Amino acid sequence: MSHPHPELSAPPALPDHGLRVIPFGGLGEVGRNMTAFEHQGRLLIVDCGVLFPEDHQPGVDLILPDWSSIRDRLDTVEALVLTHGHEDHIGATPYLLREREDIPLVGSELTLALLGSKLREHRLRETVHHVVREGDRISFGPFDLEFVAVNHSIPDALAVAIRTSAGTVLHTGDFKMDQLPLDGRITDLRAFARLGEEGVDLFLTDSTNAETPGFTPTEKAITPVIDQVFRDSEQRIIVACFASHIHRVQQVLDAAYAHERQVAWVGRSMVRNMGIARDLGYLKVPPNTVVEAKQLAQLPAEHQVLISTGSQGEPMSALARIAQRNHNIVHIEEGDTVLLASSLIPGNENAVYRVINGLARWGANVVHKGNAMVHVSGHASAGELLYCYNIVQPRNVLPVHGEIRHMQANAALARMTGVPNVVVAEDGVVVDLVDGVAQVVGKVDCGYVYVDGSSVGDVTESDLKDRRILGEEGFISVIVVMDSVTGKVASGPEIHARGNAIDAASLEEVKPAIIEALDLAVAEGSTDTYQLQQTVRRVIGRWVSSTHRRRPMIIPVVIES
Ligand SMILES: [Zn+2]
Ligand SMILES: [Zn+2]
Repeated sequence: MSHPHPELSAPPALPDHGLRVIPFGGLGEVGRNMTAFEHQGRLLIVDCGVLFPEDHQPGVDLILPDWSSIRDRLDTVEALVLTHGHEDHIGATPYLLREREDIPLVGSELTLALLGSKLREHRLRETVHHVVREGDRISFGPFDLEFVAVNHSIPDALAVAIRTSAGTVLHTGDFKMDQLPLDGRITDLRAFARLGEEGVDLFLTDSTNAETPGFTPTEKAITPVIDQVFRDSEQRIIVACFASHIHRVQQVLDAAYAHERQVAWVGRSMVRNMGIARDLGYLKVPPNTVVEAKQLAQLPAEHQVLISTGSQGEPMSALARIAQRNHNIVHIEEGDTVLLASSLIPGNENAVYRVINGLARWGANVVHKGNAMVHVSGHASAGELLYCYNIVQPRNVLPVHGEIRHMQANAALARMTGVPNVVVAEDGVVVDLVDGVAQVVGKVDCGYVYVDGSSVGDVTESDLKDRRILGEEGFISVIVVMDSVTGKVASGPEIHARGNAIDAASLEEVKPAIIEALDLAVAEGSTDTYQLQQTVRRVIGRWVSSTHRRRPMIIPVVIES
């Protein structure tokens, strides 16, 4: 992402009585959330998540927040607070800990347990953990933290209030205001009101659903739909949902128990997360309900329920393999029911429909968001945000967690309720709170940091451009050997084309033109191989563009003999 504010320069020094906010990700995209707060020379970081790549970022595994502007002062980080266990909030933590292993980690029991299993996968040793719960207060350097329960699509999510001598910040994390959540743990508006009464100087609020009018429906609205699916199904039921959506899994477990079916997890992250959730008591497994997938396969189809990953069409997921009938345990049959109980994240549509079509081809009945109410969002809609602004009555608002359109919609809601100062900032834009007023003061570098295999930050935008050209147009390589004494072509050109259906016979046509151009270039004094390679590139580029209407990647190699 290029910088949206070319007019901004590096921020000035922060006054001692000021608080600085630096977003390293999540302000301008839904993903890679990470914000640093700076006060009296110390830093506090809230969240450290990943963003998943889109089609135009081929080969990229993950995208990290860009914390390069604080890389040389990670020793001043007092703590990393993790608001909840979603990947877009914890997923980049192992990469940050690789740079400083002993950053104290602060979060709820479930959040830190999910993070712990991730750290072990990255072979990082257990670091300093502070398990906190709603109501707790704990200080790190000049930051006095208080945690507030919020309701979201994963249990044990927390908002955090940060008290400093520059003022009080309230960061909602991801939240909604479901009044009838499955676990009875609602967003603590009484705490929001108490903090508002005390005075919230800067309120950072989740923008994801700010464009959606009204209120996000309760999770309980899905229960009768799931029940209906169980009543209608005469064979196996496969439910795909996010491996972190413990409450959705709980609903399915309860339905399975009521309909005398047994359940198995499929997919690595589902098995892992449900093990953690069950051990910690966040998932309540009814007696004799959960069995191993292999055991489940021995039961009659009408007693089987599988809960699987892959609700976003991820090609390597259990559900995608089931749809291709190459899963080692689960064999989809005509009459099976597949329930996709999750949202459809924009950008994943094609992949999801590919999986749905794959399942339908084998005769499965597929229930999804498009034909039944099988999912509700985890984020507050406009109505809930309005309530929050009226309850908290903050002096300044900084919308977070969203694309620019979401943040602007959120800003408009804050203004409607009379918030005196609303600041819309994107990744890298630095906001200072000084004397009770928040304003943009500058920017720091904040690009996309790509993870590809074991490389972190090495893949550049220009590499991705090359990959897109290779993917769409293929390449042509040209090898020519030049005689360094005579300056004539000694051998070649040898031309190979891949991925663009240009046949070998056609390539013969252009060879004389290449030789002629090289002769001319040498006669005009070009001697170094780089210049001669550029000559070859120009000739073949022009030829392939005019005769084949293509722009493949061209790799000219000129060797002197
Ligand atoms: Zn979340
Ligand atoms: Zn999030």
